[in-house]
Amino acid sequence: MPDDIARPPDPAEPRPRGGHCVVLGASIAGLFAARVLSDAFDRVTVVDRDALPETDENRRGVPQGRHAHAILPAGTRGLQQLFPGLLEEFEADGVPVVREPVEMHFAPGGHLLCQEGRYADPTPTYQPTRPRLEGQVRRRVGALPGVEIIDRCEAAGLTGTPDRTRVTGVRLVRRGDGAERELAADLVVDATGRGGRTTRWLSDLGYEPPREDRIAVDIKYVSRNLRLAPGALGRRKVVIVGAAPGRPTGATLLQHGADHWMLTLIGYGGHHPPTDPGEFLEFAKPVMPSDVFEALCAAEPLDDPVAHRYPASVRRRYERLERFPEGLLVFGDAICSFNPVYGQGMSVAALQADALRECLGKGRDRLSYRFFRAAARRIEVAWQMAVGSDLSLPEVTGPRPLPVRLTNAFFDRVMTAAERDPVVAQEFVKVGSLLSSPLILLHPRTVGRVLLGNLLHPARRD
Ligand SMILES: Cc1cc2nc3c(=O)[nH]c(=O)nc-3n(C[C@H](O)[C@H](O)[C@H](O)COP(=O)(O)OP(=O)(O)OC[C@H]3O[C@@H](n4cnc5c(N)ncnc54)[C@H](O)[C@@H]3O)c2cc1C
Repeated sequence: MPDDIARPPDPAEPRPRGGHCVVLGASIAGLFAARVLSDAFDRVTVVDRDALPETDENRRGVPQGRHAHAILPAGTRGLQQLFPGLLEEFEADGVPVVREPVEMHFAPGGHLLCQEGRYADPTPTYQPTRPRLEGQVRRRVGALPGVEIIDRCEAAGLTGTPDRTRVTGVRLVRRGDGAERELAADLVVDATGRGGRTTRWLSDLGYEPPREDRIAVDIKYVSRNLRLAPGALGRRKVVIVGAAPGRPTGATLLQHGADHWMLTLIGYGGHHPPTDPGEFLEFAKPVMPSDVFEALCAAEPLDDPVAHRYPASVRRRYERLERFPEGLLVFGDAICSFNPVYGQGMSVAALQADALRECLGKGRDRLSYRFFRAAARRIEVAWQMAVGSDLSLPEVTGPRPLPVRLTNAFFDRVMTAAERDPVVAQEFVKVGSLLSSPLILLHPRTVGRVLLGNLLHPARRD
């Protein structure tokens, strides 16, 4: 009989420790999952098809590593819990840390948020490069007892019991010589990214794949590393200018070291940034504040611009499946891949790690049933915010029912008030950082400030 994941977990089930878990994919989500699983399983094997570098450099399987990667405060909290001491190490190594509003120029939806005051929530933002973050996390996970990381091995499919109710392991193909082998596991976790191999593997095992929600955004990223003169941007360590209705382009400038910055230009369909080095900066001119643009013109390029296309946000509704085999989970972007301009992916992977820890704490009975639902709850807010923001741009096609239009109109008023009101700005940033539910913005005190702010000052576009 196939497993019916709609059956609720048995609370009386003991919480076993031990067994072998295989995690497919050694990027951020796979490593976060492995960290949590190492507390519940005797052995955790992490498999990646890439050659994993010894040093903190980019690799083929993570092309997004060449582009701006911000960790939201929700992700920072996740890193603190999963890898105590890691953030302190970053700071000691000179990784820039944003602690005050004055250090962040943040202009979402055409509104430059107020840079006055202090953050009430003390969670700072750390700015390592993406390869550095992944490299440090990988070394820590690899050093955990019972964890082995195998690279240059491609997961080609799953093995299962004859009745296909349980996954029993994974088929691996070694890169280079093509040697095949099977790796037995009590639990297989697919963290192979937005490609989402499990959907095909489920069909091979005789299961329905999950329904997919998609929002076509047709985003292009073009990025390059720059050396900026010390102090060129004053106290600012990050500049983020989001797209706005009427201007479907944006830019992020992230400080990674004393004089090392990464500039990422972003454009929705029909407004893609150029990779030609000469035209690259021109694209930034109408987007960036004029003093930042001047600093960019005076900067020394450290490499050539590189591009990345991102066609659509994709959410796979595993939590809605009625049948799913035992011994299998899906994790990270393989469940939900967000439009990257909102910087949510790694933080949501940390929230999923939290969901996994919570579920494993209650035993392994009906693990997929419980995990997919717990993960979906954490994904929901981030997904709604990303989709809602995208739908505020006429360039993005998709249904805009009344609740979406009302929510977007309300968010626009919140951002208008947040241009001058540090309290509203902080509430908005907390929501966007996935630290608080958007419902906090409906608190009468906040609504009052939003109304007053909009009455006193007309909207300003930056
Ligand atoms: C352009 C861009 C910018 C982004 N910016 C941000 C940002 O600012 N902030 C943020 O939080 N997130 C950002 N993200 C999202 C973030 O990169 C991901 O959410 C994060 O990497 C977690 O993804 P993942 O580990 O699930 O998958 P991925 O990072 O895609 O990794 C998948 C891994 O699986 C391996 N793999 C694939 N297939 C196989 C196979 N068959 N066998 C074995 N191994 C396999 C790959 O080699 C890779 O290591 C961005 C994404 C993009 C595309």
